Amino acid sequence: MRSPLAVTVDNYRCHRYGFCQAEAPGNFDLAEDGRLDYDRRPPAPDRDRVLMAARCCPMQAIHVESR
Ligand code: SF4
Repeated sequence: MRSPLAVTVDNYRCHRYGFCQAEAPGNFDLAEDGRLDYDRRPPAPDRDRVLMAARCCPMQAIHVESR
């Protein structure tokens, strides 16, 4: 079985482009005030789209680890 993911976003690198939200809505949510909320422990079925969101981030601000 694949291990669950642990997600962190580096707020200093993140420039609020929103690609992560487009790739994985529900796991990443860019609020109107510019704050990025995200799922630190995404459920297993969301794994692939969270990994895709991390790959699409132009700032490489999303760090994903398998736990
Ligand atoms: S894609 Fe990257 S830079 Fe853009 S909002 Fe998401 S984490 Fe931030």
